[in-house]
Amino acid sequence: MSQDFWDAIVIGGGAAGLLAAASGAERGKKVLVLEKNSKIGVKILMSGGTRCNITHDCDIRGIIAAFGKQGNFLHSALAAFPPPEIVRKLEAQGVATKIEATGKIFPTSDRAIDVRDALVRWVQQVGAVIEAGQPVLRLSKTGEVFEVETEDRKLNCHSLVIATGGKSYPGCGTTGDGYAWAEQFGHTIIPTFPALTPILTGEEWVTRLKGITLDPVEVQVYQPDPPLPAKANDGLGHQGDRSAESHQPPSAKKSRKMMLDQRRGSLLFTHWGFSGPVILDVSREVARHPQRNQLRLVCDFLPQLKRDSFLEQLLEKKQLHPKQTASHLLPESLPRRFQEEMLGLAHIDPATRNADLSKQKLLSLIDCIKQSQIAVRGTLGFEKAEVTSGGVSLAEVDSKNMQSKLVANLFFAGEVLDLDGRIGGYNFQSAFSTGYLAGKWV
Ligand SMILES: Cc1cc2nc3c(=O)[nH]c(=O)nc-3n(C[C@H](O)[C@H](O)[C@H](O)COP(=O)(O)OP(=O)(O)OC[C@H]3O[C@@H](n4cnc5c(N)ncnc54)[C@H](O)[C@@H]3O)c2cc1C
Repeated sequence: MSQDFWDAIVIGGGAAGLLAAASGAERGKKVLVLEKNSKIGVKILMSGGTRCNITHDCDIRGIIAAFGKQGNFLHSALAAFPPPEIVRKLEAQGVATKIEATGKIFPTSDRAIDVRDALVRWVQQVGAVIEAGQPVLRLSKTGEVFEVETEDRKLNCHSLVIATGGKSYPGCGTTGDGYAWAEQFGHTIIPTFPALTPILTGEEWVTRLKGITLDPVEVQVYQPDPPLPAKANDGLGHQGDRSAESHQPPSAKKSRKMMLDQRRGSLLFTHWGFSGPVILDVSREVARHPQRNQLRLVCDFLPQLKRDSFLEQLLEKKQLHPKQTASHLLPESLPRRFQEEMLGLAHIDPATRNADLSKQKLLSLIDCIKQSQIAVRGTLGFEKAEVTSGGVSLAEVDSKNMQSKLVANLFFAGEVLDLDGRIGGYNFQSAFSTGYLAGKWV
């Protein structure tokens, strides 16, 4: 047999591809990883703000829950390679890990490069070959044999693992190549959307606060109100007067119906709008919504303080310090610049004495902080999305071994699959586990 025949070729040297190679080679298989980039594991290097949130401190059910209804697909993969296993593998390579208060697991060194290097070492120690700077251009299968074509070579293999990731951060090599090959082999691609991506807003006050983080913030995403019934339309293209309605707070039942998502966590103001874990988590609903430029965020910037207690606090301050100005009214835990913007939104001059602030004014200030309504202007899209939602349909892949149900010895692992999880290390865990399981069967 020619030198270029491999038991398995893995396309993609990311989290999923490296784990597939390691588990295949651990079983004595001759495995080759082909990576398009000149560096291996680029997304590992850039992950978690270059700290790499490896996985989450929870049981298998916790990981599954982070993927919504798609999560059930992960049962076998997580049973084969649960979260403690990646921690053990890294520690065996000399990379200690730590669990943060949020449950996120990081290398103790806070260096993503330590994780990437440890994975590469493991793969090489068990005998797999990794080649960087080797974009795969074409794939085909004749009889039992796959043919893999790069710029200057044709390679053959018995098993093929497509671990090419999604199409987010396309500058990192992830340009969705795997979707086209999956389709070529007869697979269905569930439409893709950016997920875990920053949200844009046209509100100037938001952009003036760039660089500020608040934690926790409760964020709700609302879809636009449905159009009024036909009789409320005057026939001239004008909708009936909604002003009376729009000044009424929506009923709890209506609010629930219009609410797409609700999450609590850390929020970062940026020069285009919002980022940070809580925003990335709700961005999935925004990015896939057909009217994403008409959605609304309702932010509670002080969720730990109930509205009534907040009002009591402000009234007490007004009574105890009548001569103090409004600039010292808000809790000191809130950043100064944020306090100033909130006073501005409530039309309160910071030089106003507390004694001159009416209860009505205080209530409108509380509304600005606890029920801030922010118009959404879309997301930063695939360019800045941490993951891709959608991908190779799970219905056509056997969750017991990651093998295609349509083509024998064709495997899929990682983000190329129709799987996307929340912020917190869940996406790497899914890539590690699906990659490891695929490698066991090549
Ligand atoms: C900025 C950022 C931060 C993130 N932080 C975290 C985090 O802290 N924790 C977490 O759990 N998740 C994080 N993620 C998500 C995580 O990176 C992905 O879920 C994970 O990388 C998916 O692994 P994968 O192996 O399936 O795909 P990838 O890591 O994307 O790897 C796929 C590889 O395939 C290669 N490839 C593509 N096409 C070809 C081809 N034709 N030929 C050869 N090679 C090819 C690509 O170059 C790429 O290296 C982050 C993502 C981003 C973008």
